[in-house]
Amino acid sequence: MNWISRWKKIGIRVKQIFKKQPAGQEATDWKNCPQCKKISYKPDLFNNSYICECSFHFDLPPKLRLDSLFDSNYEVIEASGNINPDPLSFEVKDAAREGYKYIDKIKKYKKITGQQTALMCATGNISDLSAVVVCFNPKFGAGRFGPAENEHFLEAANLAIKKKVDIWVVVYQSSGIDVHTGVTGLSGMTKSIIAMNEIKKAGIPTFAVAARAVAGGTYASSFFMHDFIMIESKCVENLLFSGKRVTANILKGTDQIPTEFGTAPGVMKSGLADITLENRKELKETISKLAKVILKKHKLEKTEEAHENPEDFKKTASTAS
Ligand SMILES: [Zn+2]
Repeated sequence: MNWISRWKKIGIRVKQIFKKQPAGQEATDWKNCPQCKKISYKPDLFNNSYICECSFHFDLPPKLRLDSLFDSNYEVIEASGNINPDPLSFEVKDAAREGYKYIDKIKKYKKITGQQTALMCATGNISDLSAVVVCFNPKFGAGRFGPAENEHFLEAANLAIKKKVDIWVVVYQSSGIDVHTGVTGLSGMTKSIIAMNEIKKAGIPTFAVAARAVAGGTYASSFFMHDFIMIESKCVENLLFSGKRVTANILKGTDQIPTEFGTAPGVMKSGLADITLENRKELKETISKLAKVILKKHKLEKTEEAHENPEDFKKTASTAS
């Protein structure tokens, strides 16, 4: 190493020290809105479910999301912890650190979020309906979906089927399958689709909520497997398989891409989602209302089937008495 590269390395290190912030905390109590450019006081945003006055929705931490959805206490579904999140021992390019492994990044995400995977899963009651809720945390590697997340997703699905809960809800804020995990990560697409099929076979109504970006492999697998696709607010964007730049490269020019490409209004126009909410405060009520209608319909269908078959009807009647 000559003196020039040594000085370059020192320069990068100094920059990193100046940029460094305490893990898990942001430096100020103020947040800048990317939509109206207004600066808001964080405690005020907290009291308004992290919604700006202009209706822009900031990311809602998963713990607050679960607090707002469940009626009271809920039980967190822990990740098993025996899945290697970095099966390829991927080496990340970092000018200042030689041999910097992807596993070190994952350790950092764990420290920042206090979670073992990018998912936070829980079971409890939503408006008196038993439920399993899975929430992506964008602060954990932009909501990566790697082998550990996949296993956590399957554990939550198993519990939903075992308990025969009334509803299954997944809140997506995900950049897709983690590319650093290769084929092992990609197998998560198939596994999560199979899990969704099993939940449906068990007769559990399913709800997908797009709270921010839903992209790549997550977009192309479990997201569209749900009975209801909901978009949390009009400001949600990046609901797409690949970004505008990549798509423009494929099309050889941006003029062919619609301005609403991947945005909430664009996705609604193309018929890929069922509903866009005015704001996230409506989420719990909308899910429970829809779920109650579906569950009532299921009950009616079962009674009609029993009437068509007198033997089954007798069985139903004796069970009911
Ligand atoms: Zn704003």
